[in-house]
Amino acid sequence: MPTLFTDRRSGHSRAPYESFNLALHVGDDSLVVAQNREKLASLSAPLQFMNQVHGDAVVVIDDLVNEPTADALITQNPHIALAVMVADCIPLLLVSDSVIAAVHVGRRGLVNGIAVKTVNKMRELGASHIRAELGPSICGKCYEVPQDLADEVALLHPVAMSMTIFSSPALDLPRALVAALEAVGVSSQVSPVCTLENPNYFSYRRHNITGRTAGVIWL
Ligand SMILES: [Zn+2]
Repeated sequence: MPTLFTDRRSGHSRAPYESFNLALHVGDDSLVVAQNREKLASLSAPLQFMNQVHGDAVVVIDDLVNEPTADALITQNPHIALAVMVADCIPLLLVSDSVIAAVHVGRRGLVNGIAVKTVNKMRELGASHIRAELGPSICGKCYEVPQDLADEVALLHPVAMSMTIFSSPALDLPRALVAALEAVGVSSQVSPVCTLENPNYFSYRRHNITGRTAGVIWL
């Protein structure tokens, strides 16, 4: 099951998007974004995007459709590729022989359990031996949050509790997601890249107005 995670280095978006932005909703030139999406589709398969809202909707698609409002897409169609866009959140790709998924997991997605919900849905559709790939996202040392928010997340996901190098409260979303997936029998491969630290990636924490990279999976 091929997977790929884009970075900023091979596109034409305009400043402040600079390169290979794939998102239409961030104010970039839509023609340029369309070109970037075409380029990405040529490397994978016709792309299905979704309108991500940090919710817990999981949508199963059989063919290309107008962007559904969802934070997880599942398909069994070998002729389309699923894309999840991020700028600091985790692009989660779930791989199995016959069913695949692309999932958007940020703080709210971790709390609402969208990843496990997606795994359960894939299993209903006959998936076995699901494994996970977590693409580049903001790391547990960089994702500083107010103490009350850290406490709230830690109630459900104690291993999410982290600290910045200045000892202020932070959340380690990848670590918590890996633990949540492990608990339902899904092993993970995690990118070592932090999107805030590495300038080759878009980071919402670095620039409020920024582009989006994508995680892409196809059968
Ligand atoms: Zn970091």
